[in-house]
Amino acid sequence: MCDCVNVGFGTYDNVVTLITPEGKSVDIDRCIAEEIKYLWSLGIETMASCCGHNKIKGSVIVAKKDIEFIKKLGYKTLPLKDSNGRYRDDNFETKTHRNKEGKLIYRWYEKDD
Ligand SMILES: [Zn+2]
Repeated sequence: MCDCVNVGFGTYDNVVTLITPEGKSVDIDRCIAEEIKYLWSLGIETMASCCGHNKIKGSVIVAKKDIEFIKKLGYKTLPLKDSNGRYRDDNFETKTHRNKEGKLIYRWYEKDD
């Protein structure tokens, strides 16, 4: 899971402020900030993200144009309903976690040992 300890949902207790490639200032959960920056470096546009605060799986919502690309990187969709009760196709499970040695893993090509 992630590095959060007692961080509630919807709070900004454990975020970093980053500038997106489009020049917007956004607050990103610290635990997944490296992964989000990595996705940006690949040209993927993220709409929202959450590390899950050690309670649920981390997730990232990407722009429609990037859905096929992020799937090719091995990302799996997470069930999340939209306001019409339909499952979204743009919500993906983040990969950030620590392996046995405590090393942060978040790039799609890195695997657990
Ligand atoms: Zn976290």
